[in-house]
Amino acid sequence: MSKPNRRGYSNNYRSDNSKHNRYGKNREQTSDDTEESAAQNDFQTRKQTRGRPAGLSGKEIGLYYKDLAMKKRSGLTGACSSASRSSLRDTKYFSLDPDVERMIKSSLETVNTSYGKGKILTIVGDKPKIEDKYTHIRDSEFKRNFLNIISISIQEKLAKSMSMKVKLVKNESLDEQLKEDQKLRKSAPEYVKMMDFRRKLPSYKMKEEILKTVDSNQVVVISGETGCGKTTQIPQFILDDAIEKGNGSRTKIICTQPRRISAISVAERVAFERAENPGKSVGYAIRLEKTEPRDYGSILFCTTGILLKYMQSDPALLDYSHIVLDEIHERNTESDFIITLLKQVIPKRPNIKIILMSATLNAERFSQYYELCPIINIPGFTYPVSSLYLEDVIQLTRFKFPPPPNAPTNYKKHLKPFKEKQKQFEDFNDFIEPALRQMEFEKSYPPYVINELRNPTSEELSLGLIQALLQHISETKETGAILVFLPGIMDITNLCKNLSASGRFPSHKFQIYPLHSRLPTVEQKLIFKIPPAGIRKIIIATSIAETSITIEDVVYVIDCGKTKLTRFDAAKNIEILKPEWISLANARQRRGRAGRVQPGVCYHLFSKAREMTFEEYPTPEMLRTPLEQVILQVKILQLGRVDVFLGSVMDPPEEKAIEVALNLLKNLNALDNNETLTPLGYHLARLPLDPRTGKMILWASMFSCVEPVFAIAASLSFKDAFYCPINKEEEVNAAKLKLGLGQFSDHIALAEALRQFEKGSDGQTRRFCSDHFLSSNILRLLTEMKQQFTQYLYEMKFLDSSNPSDERANKNSHNLEVVKAIVCAGLYPNIAIVQNTGSFVKLKTVEDGTVKIHPGSINAREKKLPTSYVTYFLKQKSTAIFLHDTTCVNETALIFATPQCLIRPQGIRSIITLNQSISFICKQSTAEIIKKLKNELNQLLEHKINHPEPVKWESQEGDVLRAIVRFISQSNGGEEENAAK
Ligand code: ADP
Ligand code: MG
Repeated sequence: MSKPNRRGYSNNYRSDNSKHNRYGKNREQTSDDTEESAAQNDFQTRKQTRGRPAGLSGKEIGLYYKDLAMKKRSGLTGACSSASRSSLRDTKYFSLDPDVERMIKSSLETVNTSYGKGKILTIVGDKPKIEDKYTHIRDSEFKRNFLNIISISIQEKLAKSMSMKVKLVKNESLDEQLKEDQKLRKSAPEYVKMMDFRRKLPSYKMKEEILKTVDSNQVVVISGETGCGKTTQIPQFILDDAIEKGNGSRTKIICTQPRRISAISVAERVAFERAENPGKSVGYAIRLEKTEPRDYGSILFCTTGILLKYMQSDPALLDYSHIVLDEIHERNTESDFIITLLKQVIPKRPNIKIILMSATLNAERFSQYYELCPIINIPGFTYPVSSLYLEDVIQLTRFKFPPPPNAPTNYKKHLKPFKEKQKQFEDFNDFIEPALRQMEFEKSYPPYVINELRNPTSEELSLGLIQALLQHISETKETGAILVFLPGIMDITNLCKNLSASGRFPSHKFQIYPLHSRLPTVEQKLIFKIPPAGIRKIIIATSIAETSITIEDVVYVIDCGKTKLTRFDAAKNIEILKPEWISLANARQRRGRAGRVQPGVCYHLFSKAREMTFEEYPTPEMLRTPLEQVILQVKILQLGRVDVFLGSVMDPPEEKAIEVALNLLKNLNALDNNETLTPLGYHLARLPLDPRTGKMILWASMFSCVEPVFAIAASLSFKDAFYCPINKEEEVNAAKLKLGLGQFSDHIALAEALRQFEKGSDGQTRRFCSDHFLSSNILRLLTEMKQQFTQYLYEMKFLDSSNPSDERANKNSHNLEVVKAIVCAGLYPNIAIVQNTGSFVKLKTVEDGTVKIHPGSINAREKKLPTSYVTYFLKQKSTAIFLHDTTCVNETALIFATPQCLIRPQGIRSIITLNQSISFICKQSTAEIIKKLKNELNQLLEHKINHPEPVKWESQEGDVLRAIVRFISQSNGGEEENAAK
């Protein structure tokens, strides 16, 4: 067989697949194997005579008919062809190429792995002795660390760390040196200049009170208007006071920020105010980037995630004297988590100081959570901001909303969404009418305004209205920057495009900046600059500009009133992302942004009546999202039982959500049945990644396909590098297809995009990116992340080099079947079953029934998919349930990816059951091979996870892995390839 390469392989793939019929049976194979023919005949006979898939027995038959009855009741089978009905429980015939089978068999015969066999103890009962369970792991740094984590509680760990050497010890000569340093700083002209500015900030006037309160209390809550100087000033007050009192050597402040961009911009700002560069008394640490300050007498700004990571190795935070948690009002999971954790740390470290800072909301709740600790309120300093509502904006712009849509006449399928809309409109009507009647009675607005408010589409985001309003402000209002709040990044991109296409916002008169958390930090810095006279700055932002970034020269705010929130539906295990009305607290913050330098105006694009329905505060993130990562952190910090710990947070998540997440982690084998971290879970918890992506890169390092899989994992944990300009959907799809190498996989397309991007020269890559609708900024970040992942796995000892393109880490990178199988293993159990109806593709999952491939996916336009299964990362419900990114995977990949297959003989055949809806029927000899292969694989994985070290390809480990690779790629082509290495 020819040596496979990227392109060559894809050709083989297509032709290979065309040889298979729906049951995976290889038709071109003129096998004289009677056993197989018998099985196949029997299968078809049964299928014809009984109408259910062959190979089902006992309980399975019952389940099949139960399924069928359920689908019938829900009307799902009515329109189904008999072909799709027969696969409600998906049983297919599975066969291996006889050559491949023979080769795998012979290579496994010689394998006699000495690790593990028979030694891995299965623990029965509730309270196993943890050490006993892992006697088969030989002593190593890994084992010690792992056992240390799983066998010690946080309380014991805290007690233990108390006797550890504290870094912050008094050092008089250092203290003197720091004092001198401070004196010098104070005479520096830049410092003096900045002091003039700082003195004017409202927080400055509270300096003494803040210092006194912090000094005499262990926990203090500080609240104050955005921009009053909490973030930039308070850590400096504490540091400078300590230095001046001769305590510099014992002071190190850590100040957390919820976002990467604010950690950097704040650190740079504070260093600038101190007339230094980051790296001396001020530093920052975010994922992938850090400039650390000195170990004492300094402030470290970092993301909440980084503090969490520190706490994993040092829960008592012995390196720090002050913990400042900033922006806690945002209630993101990580900061809620730290708040809960710190509550346990406080009694153990009487000298540590905790300062909780929040914008002017709900400070009392945090104080209550911390046994009524004192609250300092920094009085406001914003100029008055006048508020206008939708009714006023309509009056100013005379904007007309589009009429509500008519009932659909063309497609029946549009009817249901239409009816849902209709219902929403009726609700809207019930809600708005009383308010409109009041307005009519008071004659407060002209009739055309009231008519527009009566139109239900006036509550939908209208970029047209925003554009009209921007024009109105630019033409009629004094100078001053305009800040627009929009729900999501897509809306921002669209508005930017509309504005430039309109021709009314030429660049010699306007500077238009998008602002969201995913912009590269360099671009974000431009936003603070005050534009030259005669040019108006327009910033179009997500809620990031609410509290964490202050843009001084904003005078006008346009608030669309919505924000995009991810909500997690625990019952369906699905994330839903949709724009929702903001809370009153958010609206207040947005309004406040207009009054930084002079009185301002805020244009709220919702009616006064609508505002009355807003919640007081936003819902905490922990109540909106899946909890796997949180749970892994709970586990690695040994905070005991998940339900107990998460029960003690400020607003505990639903028990159901905890259960779903625990199950996913048990499925991944990250937790055992006693909810204790497994060695795999331990590795995953130390990777700052979604556990599935973490598993993916661990396996990729073992299977030596680092480059493509790490690229895919980076993109899954960051974002897609492809962008899609409006009305270019077809061109984008064509570009993706070119990069997809005929693999029917968004993941492969991305990996290929990054590969080509990295190998090109500067000029070529620019061209390449624009030709393929790729963002070079994102690709560059993905390259960095790939590098970072490699570094992690090198440090964890799974790779022998920190270079992602190291040959030893990429023996199978050319083998796209292996890459897809590893992706599938990482994403497991996210599998959808494909039903090719002939004219279109139908997909279903066990939990949801019918699902759709998102139009942005490479597979969305296919009339037929080459495999019976699709794996996906993200499933989201909007107008339908969409699988966002998909990869077609075949039977072998699926068998490989499924952690526990049930294999049992039945007559002359065997049944391989993967899960409640997918099973295969095959020859007994094939089943034997699969059983052996899975066994070897599981043992090898367990061994590797327990003894982290790079795979020795020339040993028996290599033989096992090669056999698996051969199985996955259903070829013996890997033979020469690997033999050559
Ligand atoms: P708070 O944390 O209370 O919202 P900050 O400490 O972030 O306030 O900001 C205080 C003031 O410092 C802001 O009003 C702004 O004027 C100024 N400032 C903060 N960051 C920057 C920056 N990167 N560039 C210019 N000015 C800044
Ligand atoms: Mg702040």
